[in-house]
Amino acid sequence: MNYPLLLEPLDLGFTTIKNRSIMGSMHTGLEEMDGGFERMAAYFAERAANNIGMIITGGIAPNEESSSGGAMMSGEEEAEKHRLVTDAVHQADPDVKICMQILHPGPMAYSKNAVAPSAVKSRISPFVPNELDAAGIQKQIDDHVRCAVMAKKAGYDGVEIIGSAGYLISTFLVQKTNLREDEYGGSYENRMRFALEIVEQTRAAVGDDFIVIFRIAAMDMLEGGMSWEEIATLGKALEKAGVTIISTHFTWHESAVPTIATMVPRAAFTSVTGRLRKEVGVPVITSNRINMPDVAEEVLARGDADLVSMARPLLADSAFMRKAVEGREDEINTCIACNQACLDHTFSGKLTTCLVNPRACHETILNYEPAKEIKRIAVVGAGPAGLAFATVAAERGHKVSLFEASSEIGGQFNLAKTIPGKEEFYETLRYYKRMIEVHGIDLRLDTRADAAMLKAERFDQVIVSTGIKPRTPEIDGINHPKVVSYIDVITGKKPVGQKVAIIGAGGIGFDVAELISHSGPSGAMDRDVFAAEWGVDFENHPRGGVTGVEPKVVKSDREITLLQRKDTRVGKGLGKTTGWTHRLTLTRRGVGMMNGVEYVKIDDEGLHILQNDLPELIEADTIIICAGQDPLRDLYDDLSAQGIKAELIGGAFEAMELDAKAAINQASYMAAAT
Ligand code: NAP
Ligand code: SF4
Repeated sequence: MNYPLLLEPLDLGFTTIKNRSIMGSMHTGLEEMDGGFERMAAYFAERAANNIGMIITGGIAPNEESSSGGAMMSGEEEAEKHRLVTDAVHQADPDVKICMQILHPGPMAYSKNAVAPSAVKSRISPFVPNELDAAGIQKQIDDHVRCAVMAKKAGYDGVEIIGSAGYLISTFLVQKTNLREDEYGGSYENRMRFALEIVEQTRAAVGDDFIVIFRIAAMDMLEGGMSWEEIATLGKALEKAGVTIISTHFTWHESAVPTIATMVPRAAFTSVTGRLRKEVGVPVITSNRINMPDVAEEVLARGDADLVSMARPLLADSAFMRKAVEGREDEINTCIACNQACLDHTFSGKLTTCLVNPRACHETILNYEPAKEIKRIAVVGAGPAGLAFATVAAERGHKVSLFEASSEIGGQFNLAKTIPGKEEFYETLRYYKRMIEVHGIDLRLDTRADAAMLKAERFDQVIVSTGIKPRTPEIDGINHPKVVSYIDVITGKKPVGQKVAIIGAGGIGFDVAELISHSGPSGAMDRDVFAAEWGVDFENHPRGGVTGVEPKVVKSDREITLLQRKDTRVGKGLGKTTGWTHRLTLTRRGVGMMNGVEYVKIDDEGLHILQNDLPELIEADTIIICAGQDPLRDLYDDLSAQGIKAELIGGAFEAMELDAKAAINQASYMAAAT
């Protein structure tokens, strides 16, 4: 057995979890959509069939005031619908447990009916919540209990009550959001009362043979958040109140420290869970940035936790745990923590899926069935689109030849992987390399396929995924020697001076600014660097882990200005859940950002612009162009001229708004239908 600790069963007394892996809770949007339960059943059953130990569903609200129109469990009718999910999971593997998460967002409910211990607005919510009176508090407790009872009726093996993240229960616990003077406010004993009454009354209602997990913010990353003593006290009190398991979480949504983004080191927070584990007698779950089985095994070996929760990694690869058991970890499609198709979708009201796995949450729609008629297919260009098409088509049985002009696969991924904080892209490349071997793809590196070559080999189908070429904006002086393209900067082909102007502030402008403003080791690879950059004290655990800790950001020794023509906030188009981290990091390093500019000319002095119709000079010895891309279709045009039918995918098809998510998604659907 490769992962003895990860694969060890956990005996809970009344039941056993078959191994130490948990698919953590993620709201996907299936909960609310028409036909969503059927799709959710397929989504969870696929993970259950692939050796996950326990599944926690996305958050389900216990009552109207917590649901904001979203999924709710308050009566038998709703419980009945969930049967589809619990039955599917238990049919897939009767030993897999599934627990329903009860989520009461409290002040974060997107509604003027939001409730909270006190009328304190969350930093990231537009609504001031209504203060609960005594009867209102009892109602919330009763509704949590009823929700758990209904979950049991629905066939769940347990519930997870979320007491973290800035949701209702956590706002009772933290002093600054609980200004009450009754028995639910003031002393810490009083502030814990709401959480403990929910747990005690839930346990009494569901009996002893039902899993009750409580999710606690073990380090809430809030100025004035919970102290370590308060967390340990809560853990012990929860145990006494009857929880089966304590799960640890590390943030409130409004905190200003990234805790799951790709710049967060793997398993960065598990030592905090380990500290709590020493204080309590019940098993504890850890989480955050644990995305490969060896990372999970190390966490367990350190004694940091009894169970390891992985939410996004199970979106990225439903067979994660099967591959771990079978020693095929090099075939795992690793979560790169980009958030682009999961959390960014969730928070924009779109259905969750995964950048590296478009099948996630689409298990009833996108399937890679064996091909009815085997074709010989040429795929030209081994960037994200070409790789996705080639591997899916080959998995289905087609004979695929993959041509790549350079000496390595990856295309734009090879640029991304060199940006500090984006090291996870190496995993995506490892995955594709392995899939090329597994599916027997005829990979031809250093081969610039041309029309004659493709014609001579008489392929049944030609896919052109030749990608993009950087756009060159029409600015007077654009051919000045100080002007360089982002590709030359990222690949290190051209030197970068001390005074830099970056034209274009999209994803790549930000990546380039990150690269050239950065010094020393990457925070994503070194927890001490990460902790210093974001002002987290893991050792002493002041309130929230951050109170009184100043981020130690190394100012860039370059003078950098990032520019765009739009008058929207610079970086507005970046990921909803990660854009703020990039803006904050660059601002702290002293990178200037300008919007609403008009480019006038480039000369020996630098970049001349107009802002608000006023002329300005950005003195620069290097001007980096990050002004988007245009499709690269030379091969496609040649093929068309010779009457050879070909299909365009990825950047070659559409460069505007193109990113790896769109490229992989388009290519996978196309290959599934070929
Ligand atoms: P992009 O996001 O489209 O940004 C292009 C930038 O260039 C914009 O700031 C645009 O702003 C400017 N621009 C466009 N045409 C211009 C022109 N003719 N002259 C001067 N400026 C011009 O493209 P990208 O940064 O190259 O990124 C490519 C794709 O990769 C995008 O879809 C991006 O989301 C994705 N990506 C994502 C990440 C990530 O972390 N999520 C990282 C890298 C790349 P103005 O028009 O306002 O000047
Ligand atoms: Fe992970 Fe990105 Fe997929 Fe989300 S979209 S699961 S962060 S790889």
